[in-house]
Amino acid sequence: MCNNMFSLDGKVAVVTGAGGILCGEISMGLAKAGAKIALLDLRLDMAEKNAEAIRNQGYEAAAFECNVLDKKSIENAKDEVLKKFGRVDILLNGAGGNKPDGTTSDKLSFFDIPQDAVSWVFNLNILGTIMPTQVFGKLFAEQDSGCVINISSMSAFHPLTRTVAYSAAKAAVSNFTEWMAVHFNQEYSKNIRVNAIAPGFLLTQQNYYLMVDEKTGGNTPRGESVLRKTPMARFGKPEELVGGVIYLCSDASKFVNGVVLPIDGGFNAYSGV
Ligand code: NAD
Repeated sequence: MCNNMFSLDGKVAVVTGAGGILCGEISMGLAKAGAKIALLDLRLDMAEKNAEAIRNQGYEAAAFECNVLDKKSIENAKDEVLKKFGRVDILLNGAGGNKPDGTTSDKLSFFDIPQDAVSWVFNLNILGTIMPTQVFGKLFAEQDSGCVINISSMSAFHPLTRTVAYSAAKAAVSNFTEWMAVHFNQEYSKNIRVNAIAPGFLLTQQNYYLMVDEKTGGNTPRGESVLRKTPMARFGKPEELVGGVIYLCSDASKFVNGVVLPIDGGFNAYSGV
């Protein structure tokens, strides 16, 4: 009973940003839960590497080139995925990220943050979530079923210091998650769900420079402050996102819609006092 409830057998999942660290790990987890995986990324070579790792474990996966900021590129990827797998049941909007130029530091004040850095971060995180949802969500509306998972962040609940563009962009992702959940149900189908995960602090390429002092290998003052505010007192591991994503994609959560699920070792719950 329990196993069946979480099973993704027979489902096809499209994962954007699947050449990256977190979405590569999540793709592997979805495959182990029974789904066939279409790994979409701007970097086809990275998506292919992660697809190969999944195939090497005996599961079905294929890589597709896709720029989530180019509607035509997303449409092409959708056509290719349909040719390969015949249908799509799950869309995980994983492409996203931050860049140092959109973040204040000792060398860059808020007043000098360049417009193009803010646009880059906004576009990738929010436009790059909305546009694939337009393309694959239309399929879901036509087939009267589907599931969308977005990736928000702790910085959406309470903005983190320094990451001005990223915090605003991820707050928009959480807002869009709620908006889209309601819109699908009211306008197209009661069988489409839209939810998000909000990872806590995991050590990845995106935040390594903020958390770890490259000279000493120890934690930066910011890294220390994250650990003090995380009741479980450690950074998360990418594979610890997988269970929450499988839950949100499966029948185990079939009445859960429009939520942003923190996977954060208690960070969001703790006031610091
Ligand atoms: P990553 O940089 O390892 O992977 C991101 C992937 O997206 C890369 O493979 C990149 O090629 C791809 N990509 C970039 N622009 C693209 C585009 N225009 N079209 C298609 N693909 C594109 O990042 P990650 O750390 O694995 O993060 C994945 C998601 O999780 C992001 O949304 C990120 O903001 C979010 N997140 C990460 C953390 C963390 O601690 N790393 C915390 C919270 C949220």
